[in-house]
Amino acid sequence: MKIKAAVVEEHGAPFTFKELEIADPREDEILVRVVSSGLCGTDEHARLGHIPVRTPIVLGHEGAGIVEKVGSAVTDIAVGDHVVMSFGACFECKHCEEMGPYACDDWKKVNFGGRMLDGYTPLKTEDGEEVNDFFAQSSCATYAVCKANQAAVIDPDFDLEIAGPLACGIQTGCGIVMNTLKMQENPSPQSFAVYGCGSVGMAALMAAKICGADPIIAIGGSEKKLALAKELGATHVINRKEVDNLEEAVRAICPQGVENAVETSGNATMALTMLHTGSFLGKCVNAGASRLDSWHFPSELGSKSLYGVSMGWSNPKTFIPYLAELYKEGKLPYDKIITKFPFSEINEVAKASAAGEIIKGVIIMDK
Ligand SMILES: [Zn+2]
Ligand SMILES: [Zn+2]
Repeated sequence: MKIKAAVVEEHGAPFTFKELEIADPREDEILVRVVSSGLCGTDEHARLGHIPVRTPIVLGHEGAGIVEKVGSAVTDIAVGDHVVMSFGACFECKHCEEMGPYACDDWKKVNFGGRMLDGYTPLKTEDGEEVNDFFAQSSCATYAVCKANQAAVIDPDFDLEIAGPLACGIQTGCGIVMNTLKMQENPSPQSFAVYGCGSVGMAALMAAKICGADPIIAIGGSEKKLALAKELGATHVINRKEVDNLEEAVRAICPQGVENAVETSGNATMALTMLHTGSFLGKCVNAGASRLDSWHFPSELGSKSLYGVSMGWSNPKTFIPYLAELYKEGKLPYDKIITKFPFSEINEVAKASAAGEIIKGVIIMDK
């Protein structure tokens, strides 16, 4: 069938709208009418070629919509179900089986390789030229085909216009706190610091509040975002542009160092501050994309841990419905960081994001 898709023809090119042909779902796949899709930094890195994806490509990996067709072998998703499409995995390797899809040996190949693992893409141009897919879903389009095993079913009364970011940004931030740091298991409140107030940082902050963290320190460079961080649960905020010594500012709040910290901005100075201000047994998560070869590591780690975490170590089929439930209970008000754009204005999202005007852009397909 014919679909409308936002295509990136080559690295650095803007999204251009094209009519493409999408294949019917194969036996383990589903066809989803996309209602909305979040856009995240990873889409922008791919568009610009910082992640060397093949082009032409249809980006998007935070798709939410309604299932229109299911393959013959799909048993846990039915036509009419409301789903959030998350990342792909092989679901067969040792690490997929023992831990979950976030640990897949083929994670990069499935999600950034432009094709499903068997070399297939469901997308073609009118001339029959194959178009690359992204995260095995390509949600910047009116329809998407993905594997059933990467889609989470959510309640039909959940607002599909805000559901997409549960697939990546929100899942990643909450997963770092709940799956990697397991802060809900702490017997007494522990200190928490988040560096960067984007969607991953804000989600981590909200999750830390849910887990009873105290104090909760948000560090960023925008007064507007720091004010929102306070509204979402930060007990202290630090504007990195207004302090002479960031490390001292953090230590003024936590003299013994911070027990749990997450860097989400990709700023190497912030990442190093996180590491230097960690408590004796502190856990530090580097979720931003800052390059380690730009870090000046401390001479010893002592008992500190430094984690690299992708996708919040999440298993989307169960974690996404859990997060949707937390939202409905009012504990995870992540709609406050969302700004909606009509699909036709997809090129405005990255610009608004780079200008610091928005935190999480979501495109709405029928607008
Ligand atoms: Zn695997
Ligand atoms: Zn993402």
